[in-house]
Amino acid sequence: MHVVIIGNGIAGITAARFVRKNGDARLTIVSSETEYHVARTALMYAYMGDLRESDLKPYEDDFWTKNRMELVLDHATDLDTAARSVQLASGRRLTYDRLVLATGSRPNRFGWQGEYLDGVQGLYAWSDLKTMQRVTEGITDAVVVGGGLIGIELVEMLRSRSIDVHFLVRETAYMDHLFSRDESELIHRQIDRHGVHLHLGCEVDRFEDDGNGRVAAVTTRDGRSFPAAFAGIGVGVHPRTELAEAAGIETNKGILVDRSFRTSAPDVFAAGDCAEFRRPLVDGRTIEQLWYSARRQGRILGLILSGKDLSYDTPVFYNSAKFFDLEYQTYGSVPATDDAGLETRAWQDGTRLVRVARRADTGALAGVTGFGIRLRHDVAATWIRAARRATFSGQDVRELAFDPEFTSLPHNDIARELSAWT
Ligand SMILES: Cc1cc2nc3c(=O)[nH]c(=O)nc-3n(C[C@H](O)[C@H](O)[C@H](O)COP(=O)(O)OP(=O)(O)OC[C@H]3O[C@@H](n4cnc5c(N)ncnc54)[C@H](O)[C@@H]3O)c2cc1C
Repeated sequence: MHVVIIGNGIAGITAARFVRKNGDARLTIVSSETEYHVARTALMYAYMGDLRESDLKPYEDDFWTKNRMELVLDHATDLDTAARSVQLASGRRLTYDRLVLATGSRPNRFGWQGEYLDGVQGLYAWSDLKTMQRVTEGITDAVVVGGGLIGIELVEMLRSRSIDVHFLVRETAYMDHLFSRDESELIHRQIDRHGVHLHLGCEVDRFEDDGNGRVAAVTTRDGRSFPAAFAGIGVGVHPRTELAEAAGIETNKGILVDRSFRTSAPDVFAAGDCAEFRRPLVDGRTIEQLWYSARRQGRILGLILSGKDLSYDTPVFYNSAKFFDLEYQTYGSVPATDDAGLETRAWQDGTRLVRVARRADTGALAGVTGFGIRLRHDVAATWIRAARRATFSGQDVRELAFDPEFTSLPHNDIARELSAWT
């Protein structure tokens, strides 16, 4: 059996690893980004000098040959599902028995004037890192557009080189669709402490040309202009579906799949950022654009391709991030504000914050979020899965949260505050 995988991101390579662990299929992995898999989530650390570029490869180069996986650095331009073949840009044609589309996401652009000038870019691919290293060499001023997770990464990267940054965020509070006002303010203070000029409620109008095709400034809708020899864009991503669409495979926002990752074409599967579940997962999502999810999807798909009878659902939702020095973890569902179904309570002490959500009808724990405090994954996930009551003892908090090395958490105070539902 020949399994061809388009995309060597975490979904594609994890699927390949699990096919290999469980059998002898011929495996070919095609990617137009890099020959070897690169840890996308660590791109920023290479720019900041915390990691060497070679550290971004989690596997030794000979891992692939040892495991009999052919890596093809090429772009898949066309797919013929009747002939079971994939056309590559180089002219090579691959035939498959099973095909996996793990084509990931593409950064959003909104048609702003000047958005393709030199020095205007997002951060997604290896080539983005290389371009950013080149175009920010020696510059003093930059603008970052978009108050999401990539936006703040771009800001942190630029600040690591002492570049003056204006950070333009459309919302009036950072990530207000996800965070409470207090949580957004924790992040505003981090941004401020690192010498970044944060402009909330601020929308881009256009990127100004320096006369030689390079960005010189960013003008906002309210008529302000910020000098910028570099403009980073982090305004979200969308699933990369073009190969599937051209082949007549059903797509919506993403490539439509069932819980076994089957697309509408026989023996063609899709997983990771590019896939959209026809039926929502337990937490209501249909698309999961997260590293942990892409890896889990890849693993389950690899097992399915090896003949296991499995289907996918999310375990308890998990995500983590870092806003400069502020660590953030979230488990389950914790809405920005109370809604009809979920109520929330928070404990806060300076830069440390824990917020829990419970189901309004049953009082069961629905989710927990921590800022500046490390939560234990297994404890949070087990409690949410078991729908335990959202009232806590000091001992519960001790179990849930790591005590930092030099300071101790006021476990009893936290428990009291998080349990005082009205
Ligand atoms: C800078 C950055 C930081 C991130 N940080 C986090 C984080 O902290 N936590 C988190 O949960 N998530 C994070 N994410 C999101 C996470 O990285 C993605 O959800 C995950 O990598 C998706 O994996 P994937 O395998 O589905 O797709 P991708 O990693 O996008 O891989 C898809 C690959 O397919 C290739 N490809 C596409 N089409 C073709 C074609 N036609 N022919 C050949 N090759 C093709 C692409 O070039 C790409 O290499 C981050 C993303 C970025 C960009």
